[in-house]
Amino acid sequence: MHTDVIVVGAGPTGLMLAAELALAGVRVRVLERRESPTRESRALTLHPRSIEIMDLRGIAGRFLSRGRTVPGWHFAGLDTRLDFTALDTRHGYTLFLEQARTEEILEGRVRELGVEIARGREVTAVRQEPDAVVVETAPGEPLRAAYVVGCDGGRSLVRQAAGISFDGSDETLTGMLGDFAATDPDAVRAAEAHGVLAVPLEGGLTRFVVVDPERMRVPAAEPVTFEEFRQALTRIAGTDFGVADPRWLSRFGNATRLAGRYRQGRVLVAGDAAHVHFPAAGQGLNTGLQDAMNLGWKLAAQVKGWAPDGLLDSYDAERRPVGEAVAANTQVQTLLLELTLVPQYRRPVLALREMLDGLLGIEEVNRRLAASVSAIGTRYGDGSPAGSRVPDLALSVTGRPQVERLYPLLHGGRFVLIRTAGHADAGDASAWADRVEQVTASAWQAPPELDGADALLVRPDGHLAWAGRGDEALEALPRWAGAPGATIAEAVR
Ligand SMILES: Cc1cc2nc3c(=O)[nH]c(=O)nc-3n(C[C@H](O)[C@H](O)[C@H](O)COP(=O)(O)OP(=O)(O)OC[C@H]3O[C@@H](n4cnc5c(N)ncnc54)[C@H](O)[C@@H]3O)c2cc1C
Repeated sequence: MHTDVIVVGAGPTGLMLAAELALAGVRVRVLERRESPTRESRALTLHPRSIEIMDLRGIAGRFLSRGRTVPGWHFAGLDTRLDFTALDTRHGYTLFLEQARTEEILEGRVRELGVEIARGREVTAVRQEPDAVVVETAPGEPLRAAYVVGCDGGRSLVRQAAGISFDGSDETLTGMLGDFAATDPDAVRAAEAHGVLAVPLEGGLTRFVVVDPERMRVPAAEPVTFEEFRQALTRIAGTDFGVADPRWLSRFGNATRLAGRYRQGRVLVAGDAAHVHFPAAGQGLNTGLQDAMNLGWKLAAQVKGWAPDGLLDSYDAERRPVGEAVAANTQVQTLLLELTLVPQYRRPVLALREMLDGLLGIEEVNRRLAASVSAIGTRYGDGSPAGSRVPDLALSVTGRPQVERLYPLLHGGRFVLIRTAGHADAGDASAWADRVEQVTASAWQAPPELDGADALLVRPDGHLAWAGRGDEALEALPRWAGAPGATIAEAVR
């Protein structure tokens, strides 16, 4: 089989990306070194924008039916929660869903779209040639493709092979997690009262997460022992909550690094391969999914031959700042935690936390931070409406009474050009039909910042490409969707 894109790594980022590429008709292959899907879940949360992007593709229900929602989330473990219900979204909540389930659902989607996931196949080298990338694997013959995307986690071989730097700071602090099959019956409630994070998992397991002042300088590479974990709980809470029968013990750290660039020629990186940080406020997996959503349609455009100049490079320009911002906010959170554990800083930092708690009680402050952690506030570009996330607008589409909102129009992964009824005769976009869906809205409920526009061009990832007058829409299209009819399906560019 000819392959346009090789995705290295079948974690959440790689699976999401493979699905997006396949949806756009790209021939994609996923290579994964693990023989079978992982059963251990590092991440437990999907935040609002992640659910929204699943809604954009019509698969949000698959996730929602497997998890449970909570109305908000925390920042640095402060008492005042971030209120996601106040955000301008139909998905104002965090979904508790174990990473293994998220991956299982995404893998189902990838297979439905006809993509092969080659498990037990480790990528050992990546080499760029002028017109292709060669990927060596063990076992197996070398493979060639037009592009390779490293979704192969924090130690990414793909990133290293492409010579992309991974700048930042080394680990200075570690925490421990433990999944236990047996605990005291009221352990979760009791742990909360002691400020220890405890979460019920599937199959009757309970996860405990601790940062123990006596063990927080132990390197992440050092395995956790059951006895160490029990002692840490006892030191922190005065009880071990009856934990027994550990199923998974792991140590994680606050090394914080960002790829120097997200693209080097025919090689790109996404997810943890592009950014790592302390798992504060549960943002890593979510950020990776959103990297994939941003990259998928752009890389597809490049492979298909219709990408306008600079489109593929806009992946770096748009997503690197997001990675940088997430890394920064996790560092702030880590500091607010770590310094409470250092005796000489404890009092002033507790005072600082109390002050921040008070500030989070101010609606506008809370909403700002909630928008950032949930990624609902992610806006690309220079702050103009272009680049902003388009909410799921209520609208009525002429001739399609079943469509009552925007997102179902994006299920196929194409751009959507909406013009109001008065501008329906302002030119025909059907020459772009392979990548643009054009509809006429008899009514819509536009957000205030788009007031006055009577046409919108929404990108496949649900961000705004352009808003303006209906009779200018055909001029705006090539800037984003390329020349009409320019699909060169077999091109290896
Ligand atoms: C304790 C902890 C808790 C966390 N909690 C949350 C949370 O609640 N919410 C959240 O959003 N994030 C959380 N995270 C972060 C989240 O787990 C990661 O950000 C996420 O797994 C990244 O996904 P990924 O697909 O980019 O990389 P990974 O999940 O690391 O997947 C990479 C894949 O590539 C494969 N691979 C690697 N090298 C090769 C190779 N050479 N050849 C072939 N395959 C290869 C690996 O086997 C793996 O399957 C947490 C992290 C930790 C440590």
